[in-house]
Amino acid sequence: MKLVFERSVPGRNTAYLPKLDVPEITLNAELREKKLNLPELPEVEVDRHYTELSKQTRGVNGGIYPLGSCTMKYNPAVNEKTAALPGFTDVHPLQPVETVQGALEVFRETERLLTKITGMDAFSLQPAAGAHGEFTGLLLIKAYHLSRGDQARTKIIVPDSAHGTNPASAAMAGFEVVNIASDDHGYVDLDALRAAVGPDTAGLMLTNPNTVGLFDPHILEITGIVHEAGGLCYYDGANLNAVMGIARPGDMGFDVMHINLHKTFSTPHGGGGPGSGPCGCKAFLADFLPGLRVKEADGTGLVEGKAASTIGNMRSFAGNFSVIVKALTYIYVLGKEGIPATAKNAVLNANYMMEQLKDLYPMAFEGPCMHEFVMTLEKMKEETHVSALDIAKALLDYGIHPPTMYFPLIVHEALMVEPTETESKETLDEAVQVLRQIYADALAAPEAMHEKPLTTPVRRLDEVGAARNPVVRYRFAD
Ligand SMILES: *Cc1c(COP(=O)(O)O)cnc(C)c1O
Repeated sequence: MKLVFERSVPGRNTAYLPKLDVPEITLNAELREKKLNLPELPEVEVDRHYTELSKQTRGVNGGIYPLGSCTMKYNPAVNEKTAALPGFTDVHPLQPVETVQGALEVFRETERLLTKITGMDAFSLQPAAGAHGEFTGLLLIKAYHLSRGDQARTKIIVPDSAHGTNPASAAMAGFEVVNIASDDHGYVDLDALRAAVGPDTAGLMLTNPNTVGLFDPHILEITGIVHEAGGLCYYDGANLNAVMGIARPGDMGFDVMHINLHKTFSTPHGGGGPGSGPCGCKAFLADFLPGLRVKEADGTGLVEGKAASTIGNMRSFAGNFSVIVKALTYIYVLGKEGIPATAKNAVLNANYMMEQLKDLYPMAFEGPCMHEFVMTLEKMKEETHVSALDIAKALLDYGIHPPTMYFPLIVHEALMVEPTETESKETLDEAVQVLRQIYADALAAPEAMHEKPLTTPVRRLDEVGAARNPVVRYRFAD
């Protein structure tokens, strides 16, 4: 059958509207003057459209997805089952509070478990993504300094290995970004940090394990230096999968953080979202938290409230509720033993792959690694002109999603691999064998590598064009 994207035919709409069960009224205002420009097609065509799209894309349901820093683990089906319970799907955020006690209990329980896992004292579940959580946390830091009448703290320190969202969030929150260098091991350079802090330091943003997959052994010293200077420490929780149940940001000296529920706690992301980036903090910052706070009323159930000096709302209502239900399900299923076991397996899988590859692929830093490792294709590029991008694209022909490319920025020709705990030894072995084969192919016929992939529905995409000039709507309204 011919593959078509545009299947709409005017007038071919099939809508199954239920019989009206409320009194009919006539609306005068707010009526559209023009018909909505929506596709018109019967259910079977809708089904085929999405089935076809799903076959043309690459997801974790199709194979290993070792996209470093993104924790593309398998999302268990039971998460979807609980999130689809009618008691969860049929509630509305404007319902009277006594009719949504179950939903409030989900918020309260999720907050309780996240504080236990991280060593924080309170969480807002409102932020819709990791970057949104960062922005929230930075606003808390700002509110804290201002509440003490300290207006001089205008700078946020960010290491040069940081995820791009860190400096972006700091700038959006109105701070000046101060970059500090990493040392030869990929850790924070302590002397550079000491030189950077001062009475203008609002805080430091850091992820640990860091973006090269290493746990910084000086973490207590780092947070100590910042605190001594009067700044606060922000933990980018995107790498929590490596340490959950084993080490807690709250014990490392961090004051405020976010968690990517869509990474660590197995809710869909990367086109399958929406996400959720709860922002947690120590008790002294809790009065600034945004959005809904669930509290116990005296024996009558749960009530909603706002934190005393709240920074306001970060988005509408309480957050991406169904995502929170999925994450809570995941935490319940794993339990107290499963959470650290998951972290250990994630670390084991990454080290296993790294060991199997390091004789061919130079590692950017000496191991052992945590949940991910970074290879550098710099030498390959110099000698053969085959780039990290070429290698990554070649993986697609073998049904493997490419690793993260050109990140972190401090590593040249970087490929960052995060296999996650949900891959079996057989799958890891296969991925290793494919990477070794590609390496051999690159040496044997370097020119051909620039043409890869050969077997995908579209070949090399204009990624710069797509980022600069995104077309995110299928049709523009008339
Ligand atoms: C993914 C990621 C973020 C941002 O999270 P989003 O949910 O994509 O906004 C921040 N820092 C690190 C290290 C990440 O990997």
